[in-house]
Amino acid sequence: MPKDGPQQKKAKTVDKDDGIPIPDNTPLDYINLTTHSDSFGVDPIPVSWGHPNPMVRGPVICTIRHAAQRNAIGAHQGSYCVYTGLAVAAGKLNPEHMPELKLTTPVFDIGPFPSWADPRKMASIDPFGHVVTDAFRSYLNKGYDIRPTIAVTKAHIDLPETREAMAAGRLKADGKILLESGQSIVSKAAIEPVWYLPEVARRFGCTESKLRQSIFRMTNGMYPELITRPDLKIFLPPIGGLTIYIWGDPDTIPDEDIPLTCRVHDECNGSDVFGSDICTCRPYMTHAIEECIKTAQAGGCGIVVYFRKEGRSLGEVTKYLVYNTRKRQEGGDSAEKYFNCTEQVAGVQDTRFQALMPDPLHFLGVTKIHNFISMSDMKYNAIVNTGIKIVNRVEIPPDLVPADAQVEITAKVFHGYNAGAAYQGIGEKDMKETKGREYKYEMPVEKDADAFVVQDEGEGKK
Ligand SMILES: [Zn+2]
Repeated sequence: MPKDGPQQKKAKTVDKDDGIPIPDNTPLDYINLTTHSDSFGVDPIPVSWGHPNPMVRGPVICTIRHAAQRNAIGAHQGSYCVYTGLAVAAGKLNPEHMPELKLTTPVFDIGPFPSWADPRKMASIDPFGHVVTDAFRSYLNKGYDIRPTIAVTKAHIDLPETREAMAAGRLKADGKILLESGQSIVSKAAIEPVWYLPEVARRFGCTESKLRQSIFRMTNGMYPELITRPDLKIFLPPIGGLTIYIWGDPDTIPDEDIPLTCRVHDECNGSDVFGSDICTCRPYMTHAIEECIKTAQAGGCGIVVYFRKEGRSLGEVTKYLVYNTRKRQEGGDSAEKYFNCTEQVAGVQDTRFQALMPDPLHFLGVTKIHNFISMSDMKYNAIVNTGIKIVNRVEIPPDLVPADAQVEITAKVFHGYNAGAAYQGIGEKDMKETKGREYKYEMPVEKDADAFVVQDEGEGKK
C-alpha cells in the first residue's frame, strides 16, 4: 500500500480556475498533539524552495487555521509566539483574528534578485516574506491566513555618538541623510527566520535527519513534527530574528560600482543599549553607523545587519556567568583565558556559527562590499564563501576601544580576528599581560539552602 495512498487522504478540493486548493478552516479549539505525513487530511501546499516565481515556490503557511494545508513547522513571530498563546489564554486575543495587512506593505522596494532563487544564498529567510499581499494575493483572496515574515519601514534615529562625530567634525549634516539635529534617516527591515531545513543541514555539514533529531532532542521535544513530518521542509524556529538598517538609497545596493559599507552585528544588549565597557560591541556598531552615513553621503549605501544573537547566541544568562568566571578566576580576567572561560561554562566557545548569516545580504542583492566593518574572520569568510566580494576591511579606531575591552580584542586578534594595523603582531606575551578589571571579590562562600528561606513578615517582627 503506498504510504500516501488516497484512501488515507481527504479528497483535495481544488479551485479549477487557479489550481489553488480551497483552504481547510480548522476549528480553533481543536488540539492536535502532532501530525504525521500519512495522517488523514494532511495535504500541505507544496513548496518548491528556491523557485524564482512565488506562485510556483508557494506561500509559507504556518498558522493554526489551515491544519491540512499548513506547510511549515513552528509558529510565526519567533519566541514571541508564546505571548500569542498567553494573549489567547487571557482572553485578550481572539484566535480567529485575521491580520489587516492592507497598509502594512513595504515603504520601499527590495528585490527581486537572482540570489533569491539560490538556496545556497537563501535558506534562513523567506525572500517573499515582505510581499505576501502581492505575491500570494490569490491565496489570501481564497481565505488563506498567510503572514508576512518581513516588515519594511523607515525611521529617524538619534545616537549620541553620531552627534559627537558631528561635534568633532568627522560628520557633517546634509539635511537629507544626516540632519542638523544629529538624527540620521534610515530605511529598515525586520526579519523573522524561516529555515529551509535541507539547506540548513547542508551548511552545517550534517544530514537533514540529524539536524531534525538534534533540534527535537535539545528543545525537549518542543517540535515533534521535526520527526513525524519529514515532508515539511520549512521550520519557523523560536529564536530571535534580525534587523537591517540602511543609510542611503537601497536601490544602489546591487550596483557593484557604487560604494557599499557593511557591518554584520550580533546583539550585545549590555554594551549596545546600556554601554557596558567590557567589550567593543557598541563602539563597533556606532563606528559602523558613522561610516555608513559617510558612504551614504558620498552617494553609496551603508548597511548594518543586527542579529538577535545575544552572548554569541548563548544568551545573556550564560554571558554573565562567563563574566563572573572571567573576573573571579585565579590571576584575574586575562586575554589568555578569554575563550576558555566561555567554554568552561557553556561547553562551547560560540554558537553563533555564521553559516546562515550572509542570507540577509543576499536578500538585499549585495554582491560586493567596499568597506567591511568587522574584525571577525568567521564573518568575513562566511560572506566571501557565498560569492560576495569584500574590498576593504575597515579597522576600528583604537581610541574607541574601552580599557576593559582590551582583553576581548586582544584575545580575538590572537585567535585570528582582524582588528587592523593597531592590533597587529599580538603574541603570547600580550595575551598574558592584557588584564581586565577585577571584581576584588572573595571566592564565593557556599551557603546552605536555609540561607534563602524567605522570612515571613510576622516572624521578622518578632
Ligand atoms: Zn559585547
